[in-house]
Amino acid sequence: MKRALLVIDMLNDFVKEGAPLEVPETRKVIPAIRREIERARREGEPVIYICDAHEPDDREFEKFGWPVHAVKGTEGAKVVEELAPEPSDIVVEKTTYSGFYNTSLEEHLTRLGVDTVRLTGCVTHICVLFTASDAVLRGYNVEVVTDAVAGLSREDHEAGLRIMKNVLGARLI
Ligand code: ZN
Repeated sequence: MKRALLVIDMLNDFVKEGAPLEVPETRKVIPAIRREIERARREGEPVIYICDAHEPDDREFEKFGWPVHAVKGTEGAKVVEELAPEPSDIVVEKTTYSGFYNTSLEEHLTRLGVDTVRLTGCVTHICVLFTASDAVLRGYNVEVVTDAVAGLSREDHEAGLRIMKNVLGARLI
């Protein structure tokens, strides 16, 4: 098995107090994500950051009713400093819920010979779930670190985990 660790959307615009798309739970999962990043680096496992990077007038904002967030090149679109990528890590920009859609993620996974992705980050029932779904449909094994993913409401968080486990066959760890 060759695994990659994915850190999804742990960006200032989701994590910081008062941020446009604040997900307060993200601040509680930072230590668990750090633990996973440190473990991965120690074990020689690739660490891949999946980061929202929108154009200022991205249609996603209006279409889904999201406030303007994670605009490419702004401070808000940067990974929080507690989890900042190292030069050896990979950063993949995305513009919608899935880390695979119109991104270089699959190319990286293929090049690295990865067959298993371990997911951390936010939001459990949105970008984590849709990335898990696309990973499963492409034949990857999916692991979700339950103390390292953050949701908006508890209900949606738990629904996201349940769907990943029961519908996608993800391994919750
Ligand atoms: Zn977004």
